[in-house]
Amino acid sequence: MNRRQLLGAALAALATKGAAQGAGRDIIVIGAGLAGLSAARDLAAQGHRVTVLEARNRIGGRIWTSRLWSDLPMDLGASWIHGIEGNPITDLAQEAGAKVVPTSYDAALMLDASGAAIDPDLAPATKILRRALEAAESHGRDLSVRAALEGSAGWADAGADLRRLVNHVINSTLEQEHGGAADRLSAWHGDDGDEFDGEDAVFPGGFGQVTEHLARGLSIRLSTPVAALAPGRVTLADGTVLRADHVVLTVPLGVLRAGAIDLAEPLAQNRQQAIDTLEMGLLNKVWLRFDKVAWSDDVDWIEWLGPRPGHWAEWLSLTRSLGAPVLLGFRAAAEAAGAEALSDSDTRADATEALRAMFGSSFPAPADLQITRWGRDPWARGSYSFNAVGTTPKTRAALAGSDWDGALWFAGEACETGYFGTAHGAVLSGRSVAQALRRAR
Ligand SMILES: Cc1cc2nc3c(=O)[nH]c(=O)nc-3n(C[C@H](O)[C@H](O)[C@H](O)COP(=O)(O)OP(=O)(O)OC[C@H]3O[C@@H](n4cnc5c(N)ncnc54)[C@H](O)[C@@H]3O)c2cc1C
Repeated sequence: MNRRQLLGAALAALATKGAAQGAGRDIIVIGAGLAGLSAARDLAAQGHRVTVLEARNRIGGRIWTSRLWSDLPMDLGASWIHGIEGNPITDLAQEAGAKVVPTSYDAALMLDASGAAIDPDLAPATKILRRALEAAESHGRDLSVRAALEGSAGWADAGADLRRLVNHVINSTLEQEHGGAADRLSAWHGDDGDEFDGEDAVFPGGFGQVTEHLARGLSIRLSTPVAALAPGRVTLADGTVLRADHVVLTVPLGVLRAGAIDLAEPLAQNRQQAIDTLEMGLLNKVWLRFDKVAWSDDVDWIEWLGPRPGHWAEWLSLTRSLGAPVLLGFRAAAEAAGAEALSDSDTRADATEALRAMFGSSFPAPADLQITRWGRDPWARGSYSFNAVGTTPKTRAALAGSDWDGALWFAGEACETGYFGTAHGAVLSGRSVAQALRRAR
């Protein structure tokens, strides 16, 4: 028996055991991302009859390893295990036999607008931001990070250079991290969230190894978009109606917010409020492949304090970690949204112009590129959820859980209170819905 057959046999054995214990309900899981696959795997192991319905023609959702460059798998969605210690993705990577390699924020280079290497003291800028957010806590109601900053004494006193650094700090620590623009992120809770300890690590063979591993032995229908839900009933886009005792809905928050799935009955008021309050952030990646390395090969991160805050401000070099002549440029929040309208060739020209400002006019043009547009992706409608103005620590808990007397359950990264917006958060959310369903009648 190979590993795949072994896992299938193990799931089947567990299913038999679960059935003997009185499980064996019909459950439809919508979405074959990390949350849906994790939920389906645990539910199948409990002995339920589980079918996963996935709109795309592939599994993984926001885990998407591109094989366009056959020698170099590129993760167009999540790349990192953030904090490898105690992280469920670390265990899954080990189970899948997937190699991981660390990257380090200590191996970093910062360049000013003209390309000179700089080492600015970011402490005063960080202090202005921190004090502004502290002052916002005594404001009568939540406000955005930008409003909190611009109403603060520190901002009023800061000169142009210091303000530029504050904007850089906001972009690199908040907007790139959460995908939400500073004028939408909550000053009170925009930077909440738990973290695992340890290094960050990437998958040289692609994050997709984890989702492939999770999917083994499961019944998954690809290219099967769900159009409507009613208690006990799932209507597919082609009109087919499927019946289920429970539905586990793991589509991204962006899909819920867009009303892309018709719901026959209203949701609980606090769940609907959560959907309306949380927002979908945007982080897009531009992978640029060169014939050879034309930049410092001893750093992972390159930051650019360019002419415009957030404009090609963050780059990852794949040279140190993977030995590859590839630069990955990140664009977040408003910068990312505006750029989605650009064609591939305009994006290539824009990135090359930035790199020439950073490294000199003889910097080569990329030989090839790959670009993400997660905001325009109808099955994601953004990259990950963030705590927009008005979010409280109770908001995500209100989104998670069940509705319609237990007929409809919610999971996905947006439902995770501590680890939202991450791959591990999606796994934990999927597992916790399976746990809750175990207890449900
Ligand atoms: C660019 C980017 C970078 C990221 N970087 C990291 C990182 O480095 N580390 C990290 O931990 N996290 C990262 N994340 C976040 C992480 O990828 C997500 O939090 C996680 O993958 C979400 O999993 P999920 O199962 O909740 O949702 P998804 O993976 O989105 O799964 C939901 C599924 O539902 C499907 N679906 C949608 N609508 C329908 C429908 N109508 N019918 C049927 N199916 C439907 C979708 O196609 C999708 O497959 C990143 C995300 C992005 C986009």
